[in-house]
Amino acid sequence: MKLAIMGAMPEEISPILEKIGSYKTTEYAGNKYYEATYCGVDLVLAYSKIGKVFSTLTAATMIEHFGAEKLLFSGVAGAVSPDLKVGDLVVATKLSQHDLDITAFGHPYGYVPEGSVYVDADKGLIEISKSVAAEMGLHVKEGIIATGDQFVANEERKNWIGSTFNADALEMEGGSVAVVCNALNIPFFILRAISDAADMDASFSFDEFLESSAKISAEFVMKMVEKIGK
Ligand code: SAH
Repeated sequence: MKLAIMGAMPEEISPILEKIGSYKTTEYAGNKYYEATYCGVDLVLAYSKIGKVFSTLTAATMIEHFGAEKLLFSGVAGAVSPDLKVGDLVVATKLSQHDLDITAFGHPYGYVPEGSVYVDADKGLIEISKSVAAEMGLHVKEGIIATGDQFVANEERKNWIGSTFNADALEMEGGSVAVVCNALNIPFFILRAISDAADMDASFSFDEFLESSAKISAEFVMKMVEKIGK
């Protein structure tokens, strides 16, 4: 079984590459892909660059070109739910695209014909995350993640996303990765550690906590890989 691990930014993937130690690097489609074996699991890793388009390209490439059969995403997000604080982990139960809008035709936000407002993450992988969380003595929130091509640093926009999609966290890649994996029948899992509260201080909080939160998420995902390898 080949497992893809992706992030959006270098900070999200470098802790994992450091842990793995040695890997093969391949340049493809304007990006670098890393292949390695960890705890008996064949891995392909990459950071996509930020946003829905780059993350779509990377997820599809990992599956179609590198033969990934399952995908785990590790990264950071802005909190929507007041329960979520910097450093907390959130596992997506389902994801949506908050900036997808053809409501002028009477459709709901996040919907296009032949698509769906939400895409469900894989229940089996979520179960594995629950047992990892229990073993680590960590509280991991399960919730809805909303994705869009915007860094949200505005209380009003964040609250709109929260009420329109019932979202607990927001970011810029999960929803597009979900669409790709769903279309290609690849079980996927999206994990995020909170870096900011998507409010007026978000960019400062993000800069301060990107590295530490990205590491928290990366460590958790690698514990999942260890479990998958057992
Ligand atoms: N500082 C970076 C840009 C970061 S964009 C630069 O200048 O290059 C934010 C990234 O973190 C995206 O990959 C997104 O998925 C996630 N993210 C964290 N907080 C977010 C927020 N408040 N709104 C949207 N995305 C957020």
